Amino acid sequence: MSRGNLFVVSGPSGVGKGTIVSRVIDEMPDAVLSISATTRSPREGEVNGVDYLFLDRADFEDRVAHDGFLEWAEYAGNLYGTPLDFVRDEIAAGKQVILEIEVQGALQVKEKMPEAKLVFIEPPSMDELARRLSGRGTESAEQVERRLEVAKVEMNRKEEYDKLLVNDSLDAAVAELEGYIAAESAE
Ligand code: 5GP
Repeated sequence: MSRGNLFVVSGPSGVGKGTIVSRVIDEMPDAVLSISATTRSPREGEVNGVDYLFLDRADFEDRVAHDGFLEWAEYAGNLYGTPLDFVRDEIAAGKQVILEIEVQGALQVKEKMPEAKLVFIEPPSMDELARRLSGRGTESAEQVERRLEVAKVEMNRKEEYDKLLVNDSLDAAVAELEGYIAAESAE
């Protein structure tokens, strides 16, 4: 059995990290994605237990109080957290566990598990990010503005990551992330 590892992928909202990560999960047999809990409302088409575990604030806070999360953070007014049991069990089973989480949570993971590998996905430019974020049409104009403000703060912390990757071409970004996971898990 290969050794299990933890990979944490962050990057500004709209950068395409969800698309990149789901391709990696489809293409790498021993890679698994952690499903986060959130207090955000489901977007159209999102399924409870598949995209997220959708919780109300009281349930979320109860899990925080019972140490149910590896990390958690507030992002653009909602709470998001990584259930601890799944991550622990899958690493023990020799899987390459991927978290797709924002920056504050990623840095908490690095503190608790210094062996975790942190990957930051950057947009080709902030203008391009703004175009992608408004183009996908899942957020109101006000929420897009809020996410762009958060993105600027997140970009300032990218140097704290182990690996930087620019999402210019989707295929190239997927290949680069797969190559990184393969190399790090072979060590
Ligand atoms: P969205 O609302 O677009 O699904 O996610 C907003 C942000 O929360 C994204 O940057 C996403 O990566 C991050 N996120 C999702 N799940 C978690 C989590 O479990 N913990 C943390 N810290 N961030 C998360």
